[in-house]
Amino acid sequence: MSDAAQSGAAALPPLDELLAAARVVALPLATRFRGIDVREALLLRGPAGWTEFSPFAEYDDAEAATWLAAALDFGWSDVDATPDHPALLRDRIPVNATMPAVDADRVAEILARYDGCRTVKVKVAERGQTLADDIARVRAVRAAIGPEGRIRLDANGGWNIDEAEHAAHELAPFDLEYLEQPCATVPELAELRSRLHDWDLPIAADESVRKAEDPIAVVREGAADLVVVKAQPLGGVRAALRIVAEAGVPAVVSSALDTSVGLAMGAHLAAALPELDYDCGLGTASLLAADVTREPLRAEGGSIPVRRVEVDAGLLEAHAAAPERDAWWRARLTRCHAELEGRAAAASSADTGEIAADTAEADHRGHPQRAASAEQYPRQSEGRA
Ligand SMILES: [Mg+2]
Repeated sequence: MSDAAQSGAAALPPLDELLAAARVVALPLATRFRGIDVREALLLRGPAGWTEFSPFAEYDDAEAATWLAAALDFGWSDVDATPDHPALLRDRIPVNATMPAVDADRVAEILARYDGCRTVKVKVAERGQTLADDIARVRAVRAAIGPEGRIRLDANGGWNIDEAEHAAHELAPFDLEYLEQPCATVPELAELRSRLHDWDLPIAADESVRKAEDPIAVVREGAADLVVVKAQPLGGVRAALRIVAEAGVPAVVSSALDTSVGLAMGAHLAAALPELDYDCGLGTASLLAADVTREPLRAEGGSIPVRRVEVDAGLLEAHAAAPERDAWWRARLTRCHAELEGRAAAASSADTGEIAADTAEADHRGHPQRAASAEQYPRQSEGRA
């Protein structure tokens, strides 16, 4: 282990080393999700194990660089052994099933892919659909999982306040666990939360955490009861743990439609959280029709194990991205590496050898590119995971 790793700080690995280690895959989805049919990811084998860099294609370099910081934190520092990593408190993580915005008659088929999951996250407010479509889907899920099952909804910011309030009234009879990102902006969420005050229907913030300049402003402004956190967009396991601690509300760990390698990062985050009261959105390997390992982190008995993933050379080969996509990801990796170098240089006046994850967190607080607030993220084209 290097000095940097022993101190918990992973110095930025050289670009050449990353490019040599990089493998780009294009995995088919089992069901169209988030407007895509294929999930691309760049995988890296670092000293600590396999790690994943997979910001969605439309994200700019400033945002994507934070995902790279997360990938390097997981692959180049030993989450299981580095002193400043909190202990892993659990070895399995209960996960929810994820129901894309499909027709109600497909609900049973999709739930069958999730073994033993007692909680279902149902996508609602899909562009081009109506509240009637959402109600039919939620009704079908409730019928399938019975009264003991838990249903949470994720609108990805697709409703305005009135639409969200109306939908909450219409969908509440199905006994909802919480409503995730019903509206796009923090002020809208705060207003909705006050309108739903007597309803006992918690509001969860997702995009308002991971795409905001200040990830916990949504909590400070009284706009959310819990936060959804994802390891990659928040700059890694340790950065996300700090954000959850600062938020001071319950957290749900979720994926960004990761391969099993990225899901392992999320599982490590979930395992390290002091409190884990909600099932996590880490069962999304079931949304993929192919994965990069022979032992994917799919739900078994309603949970996934906390472990690192060994990728399979044959699967990497079989699902290798086309040459032009491979080149695109390598160019993106190169630009994001330069971005992280710039951040490290900026931070080095305070602490030479600043670690990538720390600069990622600093980025949340002050990088001009991240001044894009919740108001600016497109309501339907982003953040669908
Ligand atoms: Mg979400």
